[in-house]
Amino acid sequence: MSEAKRIDGKARAAGLVERVKAEAGALEAATGRRPGLAVVIVGEDPASQVYVASKARMAEECGFKSVKHVLGAETPEAELLDLVERLNGDPTIHGILVQLPLPRQIDANKVIRAIAPEKDVDGFHLTNVGLVGIGDVATAFVPCTPAGAMILIRDALGEDLSGRHAVVVGRSNIVGKPMAQLLLAANATVTIAHSRTADLPALCRMADILVAAVGRPEMIRGDWVKPGAVVIDVGINRVEAPEKGEGRTRLVGDVAYAEAAERAAAITPVPGGVGPMTIAMLMANTLVSACRAAGRAAPK
Ligand code: NDP
Repeated sequence: MSEAKRIDGKARAAGLVERVKAEAGALEAATGRRPGLAVVIVGEDPASQVYVASKARMAEECGFKSVKHVLGAETPEAELLDLVERLNGDPTIHGILVQLPLPRQIDANKVIRAIAPEKDVDGFHLTNVGLVGIGDVATAFVPCTPAGAMILIRDALGEDLSGRHAVVVGRSNIVGKPMAQLLLAANATVTIAHSRTADLPALCRMADILVAAVGRPEMIRGDWVKPGAVVIDVGINRVEAPEKGEGRTRLVGDVAYAEAAERAAAITPVPGGVGPMTIAMLMANTLVSACRAAGRAAPK
């Protein structure tokens, strides 16, 4: 079989961001309002610092008002809840993102539930989770990573996934479960696999669409991939890279890319696949929120 098409998430995301930028400009020209995104980080987790910085930078690039709140690692839960309350009431803020994980003294569920659902651009509030659960993905804020992955799947296979078998490996609330629900809403036949699934390789080999959201470097091998499948690798894993020099690292996905590319029809690389789509969808969700707040039709 010939080598798979490499799905360029970076280029796709850049196109989406250009559209968001243009629509944000049109919103401001018509109403004088700019979309506003507040990102909140508690503590000094280095990966979180990088994510938050790139989200804030992208918001600025889109012409949004971008506000970053950096709180100390010892911040009490009540203080964070107060900040969320203030942001809920701030008419210049349309999206609130509290970067996870949070330090131990703070109940993340409580914080997520405190965010106004109409500003919950991460799509983690129970209202948005429920809307996705009943298949109302047009009203919901859909979590950004599965929403971005879904665009790449539709680019490859079209809007309607009737008759396709999708296997989602991973059942987290932020990736696996919403991913499965979006695939179901698009008429795919969906199987969700996890750490207690028996004979995962055989199950994966049945997938026309294989989504890996596990967090285990290159766990999914080439011979787990059905010839002609579309493979979406959500995993981001940092591994040692002695070939680059001592102490150096590189990013790999949950799928052994080179092996899988020999069998798949199309596959996302890591980096440059689902990752950039996640940030683009965050911008798209914030724009939708701002349009709704201004009483304008949200862009599709
Ligand atoms: P979680 O750790 O929350 O969930 C991992 C899931 O994988 C769990 O459901 C777990 O099963 C399952 N799993 C673990 N080991 C195995 C195994 N050996 N066989 C089968 N299933 C297994 O991770 P997330 O969903 O938050 O993230 C998954 C990956 O995606 C990570 O690499 C993360 O970095 C990446 N990610 C990437 C994003 C992006 O923008 N591209 C955004 C978010 C995450 P069980 O439930 O039984 O424990």
